[in-house]
Amino acid sequence: MKAAPARRPPRPTARLALTLAAAAAVGVVGTLTHERHRTPPGPARPGPSAAAPVHATPGSPGIGDPLMPLDGNGGYTVRHYTLDFDWRAPRTAFDAGVTISATATQALSRFDLDFAGNTLRTVTVDGVPAKAVREGDELVVTPAKPIPHGAAFTVRVAYLADPTQHRHRDDAIQDYGWMPTADGTVLSPQPDGAKMIFPVDDHPSLRAPITFHVTTPPGLSAVANGRLVERRRRPDGRVRWTYDSEQPIAAQLVQLAIGRFTFVDSTGPRGLPVRDVVPTGDLVGDTEAYRALTSEHLAWLERRLGPYPFHRYGVLVGDTDLSVALETQSLSVVPSADLLGDRVDAERNLVHELTHHWTGDSVAIRRWSDLWLSEGHARFYERLYSDEHGGRSIEDAMRSAYAQHEQWRRDDGAPAEPAEDTLFRQMRYDGSALVLYALREKVGEQAFERIERAWVTTYQGRVAGTRDFIALASKVAGRDLTPFLTPWLYGAHTPPMPGHPDWQVDPVVN
Ligand SMILES: [Zn+2]
Repeated sequence: MKAAPARRPPRPTARLALTLAAAAAVGVVGTLTHERHRTPPGPARPGPSAAAPVHATPGSPGIGDPLMPLDGNGGYTVRHYTLDFDWRAPRTAFDAGVTISATATQALSRFDLDFAGNTLRTVTVDGVPAKAVREGDELVVTPAKPIPHGAAFTVRVAYLADPTQHRHRDDAIQDYGWMPTADGTVLSPQPDGAKMIFPVDDHPSLRAPITFHVTTPPGLSAVANGRLVERRRRPDGRVRWTYDSEQPIAAQLVQLAIGRFTFVDSTGPRGLPVRDVVPTGDLVGDTEAYRALTSEHLAWLERRLGPYPFHRYGVLVGDTDLSVALETQSLSVVPSADLLGDRVDAERNLVHELTHHWTGDSVAIRRWSDLWLSEGHARFYERLYSDEHGGRSIEDAMRSAYAQHEQWRRDDGAPAEPAEDTLFRQMRYDGSALVLYALREKVGEQAFERIERAWVTTYQGRVAGTRDFIALASKVAGRDLTPFLTPWLYGAHTPPMPGHPDWQVDPVVN
């Protein structure tokens, strides 16, 4: 995400509780039961069905991320999602379904999905109706029979999707979830809004490939992450679009847009397919000059970080009140306003989202507290590019970030110690780019470049966290960087900047 919020006073951390309470109030319709409180597992009860020697227990409702403890789920691994969306009209509920192929990592008596969608209809497990209960953002599924450890199983959830559904984060100054447009929608699911779109394992460290089937009225197009596999006109005139994400994707990076679109195809370095998706009309021509720079941006980043890690790329121009861009995998969504102003600003935004495809999309974060690795890198290369292309010098920008760093540390938490409601504040952007800048000053440019290349190569397509980064940087630099990076990332105060003894920290204001 390219969020550059102005500093705001910290808020009390009541948001999560409020959100859960509000979501719990949504309840459940139809024949599904609704329990406000989950029954504890209790002792295994022998009975006529106890023939199977399986001591099945509930999968955990979250993966235990301290910042968003109920996000993701335990007890199974998702291997694939298939979404079936029968889109009707803007801001209009439509029939939706998801098919989840998963493998049990324990004997499961029940399991959770993350789901905050509007109206649940039916849930089946391996074709058999399952009991489904909603508790806040958790959908608790109890299959008719326990699922043995190691077994593959298929969950189907039918629901009514509501494309007006979104939530708000003050720290990112924006709504997230479905982002309605005049003739359709785009998505901005970060950080945990995918659960409003479909039932999912909604945590950035959890990834699976997705197949999208979206049916649209004639005249409208659907786009999603990855490759367009098929576009088929049905006898009733509606069009069914099929996309394949090609590579596993985290829920927060899912993109699905519907509208009157013009597709603009081009080719990036090494023949990489590039497809921009632009609302049909003036925006096609008006955004062309900056969109055409993508190939240059790709080449510039490849010189620093190695080959682009996905099979294709493109910019989806968001003609909506979406306030920030987002690195949705292989198809970044960029607000039209970002592409209509000053060139230096436009390139900063474009390079930022593209950089995320190496850091954040390909190298996924392990926990939300590792967000500095994703946003810090995106901001660092955005500033480095800008420095070399007519923008502000990175040294000047980092000197200014250094001056504010103690204040950010106080208000937003240290770079690797955000609170749930300070995640997307400046400390994760310029405040974290500053940590990388300090590392570069400490080890020298050549060693820093080797560290960076090793980071995106070693962890390509994998999950990595702060400890992994410190360990890898130390290994590549040939010295233990723990004593240097720890106070930068976790300390109560910002350390001196190597090589810049004259840099000053502004006094902290209450
Ligand atoms: Zn970002």
